[in-house]
Amino acid sequence: MVTQLTINELLERNKAVAAKHEPIPTIDEIAAMGVEPPHIIVLTCADPRCVPHYFLNLKPTDGVLTLRNINGHVAPLLNDILALDTYLGIHEIMIVHHSDCGALIFTDEMVKANLKKQHPNDTKIDNEVFGAVTDIEQSIKDDLAVLKASPYIRKELAEHSFGFLYDIKTGELKRVEG
Ligand SMILES: [Zn+2]
Repeated sequence: MVTQLTINELLERNKAVAAKHEPIPTIDEIAAMGVEPPHIIVLTCADPRCVPHYFLNLKPTDGVLTLRNINGHVAPLLNDILALDTYLGIHEIMIVHHSDCGALIFTDEMVKANLKKQHPNDTKIDNEVFGAVTDIEQSIKDDLAVLKASPYIRKELAEHSFGFLYDIKTGELKRVEG
């Protein structure tokens, strides 16, 4: 079994990274370079095997923002998308879920049962969702539907939002139609 890292060990790693760090351009510097602000959002899973900067080979000046949570669900991040669209004017959204996602393993009922042990009289827990899914391609379609059904998402942005399945074994992205 590999020993799990601690935050203190991560801080040591940061010292080594910072010692070789190349300064990242500020917003003003990026504008002065003639680089447009970010116009693409990649929404995906928090899983450390599903890292957009790796599978899309992203650089800080590429104009791509990443939002991540369990499975890459739209609903918990809708307000973030709306704020970023207001501030930056988003052109396209990629929803990327991945093979072997942990969201396929646990269930919302497991989380609710655990919380109920600590809060037996709390009925609010019964109506909460925690991101578990049973079919990864269906979850991509469902999240695209959540995005497109939101009355606050601009029609043009909804029409330029697409779903993809990332295969962690091959590294390939496959389009999944909504
Ligand atoms: Zn995942």
